[in-house]
Amino acid sequence: MINLMALKAEISAINPDVRLIAVSKNVDIDKVLALNAQGQLEYGENRVQEMARKQSLINQSLNLKWHMIGRLQNNKINQLISLRPTLWQSCESIEKAKAVDKRLNYKLDTLLQINSANEDTKQGVMVNDAIQIYDEIMQTCPNLNLIGVMSIGANSDDMDEIKRSFELTRNIFDKLPNAQICSMGMSGDYHIAIKHGSNMIRLGTMLYA
Ligand SMILES: *Cc1c(COP(=O)(O)O)cnc(C)c1O
Repeated sequence: MINLMALKAEISAINPDVRLIAVSKNVDIDKVLALNAQGQLEYGENRVQEMARKQSLINQSLNLKWHMIGRLQNNKINQLISLRPTLWQSCESIEKAKAVDKRLNYKLDTLLQINSANEDTKQGVMVNDAIQIYDEIMQTCPNLNLIGVMSIGANSDDMDEIKRSFELTRNIFDKLPNAQICSMGMSGDYHIAIKHGSNMIRLGTMLYA
């Protein structure tokens, strides 16, 4: 298990305003609790059922905050809403936005996911459509509180390609009205992401090594 204080010092030396989300999708609650003992409050899950399972096993008084970071299936929308996530990071289309909006009975903080590396395997809106779709969601989804963007860096060994995907995301972020969160960077690329304007990183694997 990582020394979280040392990691946070390292991160804040690059940029003190970066928020760290611990991705817990592949670990059990013992690891979540071990990170929490080091002060970590925010966790990311990519499956609604797993978020529900962990929430039910962990004492509510710890006040952990849960981020949805994976593809949201239509038949899991109601369950996600009932779990009151802190942030839905993976809104991937206008259709999905509308489907969630119409079921919500509270305002849900949301990020638009951008497929900045233009990869078929990835979800998210295309770079060229992002601003228009962001605007359309703002106009048509009153229960979604859109506050920024999320992206997964290019899946590549080419540093320039990874950099470019982060720059594209940050460029979009800078053009959006009232956007606060630019979520990008994972275990393998968070240094590059922060240098290119990320203010929220989602780290999994490296925390548990
Ligand atoms: C799994 C996952 C992460 C964490 O990735 P690591 O390489 O384990 O740090 C971050 N973001 C998303 C969307 C993920 O699915």
